[in-house]
Amino acid sequence: MCPCTSTVRNSMRTGGAPSGTLAPELRRLMSAADSSAIVISVSGEEREVTAKTAAELFADDPKIVVARVNGVLVDLSHELSAGDSVEPVFIHEPDGLNVLRHSAAHVMAQAVQEYRKDAKLGIGPYITDGFYFDFDVAEPFTPEDLKKIEKSMIKIIKSGQLFRRRVVTHDEAVAEMANEPYKLELLSLTQGPGSGADAAEGASVEVGEGEITIYDNVHPKTGETVWKDLCRGPHLPNTKLIANGYALMRAGGAYWRGSEKNPMLQRIYGTAWPTKDELVAYKERIAEAERRDHRRLGRELDLFSFPKNIGPGLPVIHPKGGVIKREMEDYVRTRHIQEGFQYVSTPHISKEDLFYTSGHLPYYADGMFPPMELDNGHYRLKAMNCPMHNEIYRSRGRSYRELPLRFFEFGTVYRDEKSGVLQGLTRVRMITQDDSHSYVTKEQAPDEVRHLLKFMLSLLEDFGMTDFYLELSTRDTEGDKKDKFIGTDEQWEEATAVLEQVAKETGLELVPDPGGAAFYGPKISVQAKDAIGRTWQMSTVQYDFNQPSRFGLEYQAADGTVQEPVMIHSAKFGSIERFLGVLTEHYAGAFPAWLAPVQVIGVPVAEAFNDYMTEIADKLRAHGVRVEVDYGSDRFTKKIRTASTEKVPFILIAGGEDAEHGAVSFRFRGNKQENGVPVDEAVARIVEHIRNRVNEDPKPSTEAAE
Ligand SMILES: [Zn+2]
Ligand SMILES: [Zn+2]
Repeated sequence: MCPCTSTVRNSMRTGGAPSGTLAPELRRLMSAADSSAIVISVSGEEREVTAKTAAELFADDPKIVVARVNGVLVDLSHELSAGDSVEPVFIHEPDGLNVLRHSAAHVMAQAVQEYRKDAKLGIGPYITDGFYFDFDVAEPFTPEDLKKIEKSMIKIIKSGQLFRRRVVTHDEAVAEMANEPYKLELLSLTQGPGSGADAAEGASVEVGEGEITIYDNVHPKTGETVWKDLCRGPHLPNTKLIANGYALMRAGGAYWRGSEKNPMLQRIYGTAWPTKDELVAYKERIAEAERRDHRRLGRELDLFSFPKNIGPGLPVIHPKGGVIKREMEDYVRTRHIQEGFQYVSTPHISKEDLFYTSGHLPYYADGMFPPMELDNGHYRLKAMNCPMHNEIYRSRGRSYRELPLRFFEFGTVYRDEKSGVLQGLTRVRMITQDDSHSYVTKEQAPDEVRHLLKFMLSLLEDFGMTDFYLELSTRDTEGDKKDKFIGTDEQWEEATAVLEQVAKETGLELVPDPGGAAFYGPKISVQAKDAIGRTWQMSTVQYDFNQPSRFGLEYQAADGTVQEPVMIHSAKFGSIERFLGVLTEHYAGAFPAWLAPVQVIGVPVAEAFNDYMTEIADKLRAHGVRVEVDYGSDRFTKKIRTASTEKVPFILIAGGEDAEHGAVSFRFRGNKQENGVPVDEAVARIVEHIRNRVNEDPKPSTEAAE
């Protein structure tokens, strides 16, 4: 971009069109002054235009906020050249939303620096549904601070400040950012090999490949630069486009460049949407997620807790949570046996050497707890079960006739997660995996991966998760990160090709995850969407060519030669604790009857019917149904309320009319009632609903339903 033309254009824009798009008269004047039309392609269509910039080209539609020129996302002020291929980007498209959110982050940072003069800027990228910005400030931000910052954002937004891109040299950038030590650090990283793109998570919004740019926030009337930031852009043409829907959500600490060795900065999270309705909907989604938070529900429903005296990331499961956990375990144990797995069991600690053999040391050292002294040597808590299964494999000679040989166990593993990342049951230090290892010949590997994927998907469906995509995690192929993975290029390619092929066959969406593999091989993970559309990583299957050779695993092939098997790791729930947490949120604590800690609660209308209700409960108990009768002294209506807050799937009511006719009444969620159902029929309906593992709420029978 030529700096002088940009100066001319900018001064016209500030003088004439505060909204950031040119007034029509001005455009006419410009084209009259310069009649040199150019031919460009607009959304794939060749056009002769006099527009000098994307802003002029798309001046008619204020929803177009940036443009893609020759495949690169640019500001609307970008100057067009003959032969350019130009596409409009609307504010509601993914790229448009990202630009909106990053622009909102700039406005927030400007507001913060007005309010806290000491604030030094960290980075401020867009993220899913919003943005954040990190600041070095003396005092953390309080909720009151956020309100004040939000208020001063209104002023900035309404004033319609223009975002203006300016290319600078490295030395100019250093001079302009002299008071921003973190920006100077990012600039210094752009000088070295590999540039600044990897400098910090999110730092690519500031610096990266190509020229260094600063974005000025320019007052539309005075033309004065009121704030600026080192930034790659692009940005909205002006701040007014943020006005419809933005909010600051919360603040918290975050280490500069994600490392504990660096200073702790204060991060403010915000959100921005093209319309107010979308902002409201987003806030409702957040509120719904809070309503479903398994940590809160776990306490309210007496399922599990996180005692401080035991330690962070070490949950205890209470009797009611224990019922759900046992149902999950019973299910998965039975399924594994049906799918050809043999049940095994291994210790929780072992000699440290075992993990050197497997490669977990040093490759997974960060995830393991420190060693303990025992018998003049070091022992370790296990972080994975595979090394122990390998010991079972090599406990005797194996023949090709035994393959696939499949071991399964509920293996509790221990991971040294930093206390900052622990979260309820979904990120813990003690994980019980429904862990399996299939030992196969190389030829059998694709079929075994297919078999495991099918198993995993059907398991998730049985638990009511039906919306999935797959992720294919591969190793990092560049730089020193490559050294975190063991094995040759050929081995990785071969293993990845097998997983990719089988994943594609499912017809599910397949998303690449470069760098996400385990050190010993690539992985497919099933990402399941919950009831409110959030994605959780559930089952995983990994192809491992490393551990068999490190452990010297062998089998005798049909031709009498000795061969090395391939090992396929798989966990279906992933972690039982985590799955329990996810299920709690998916069902908002209202578990399907087959999983519910209490499946039926009997509420006699008055004390006179206690015995009658007990008889019905006994009949259900005889079928293995988990049933309770509320004999308490509360009034009937209070008992019904209690049963529904405890989210018991079946509420049975018995009163005079029921007792007279050998019947019972159902009370369903949403207060629907079905009266006078013969007891045997009621029992049969409940038993069938549970036995069939129906995940939907019980409903009135068709005759009774309106
Ligand atoms: Zn920026
Ligand atoms: Zn494993």
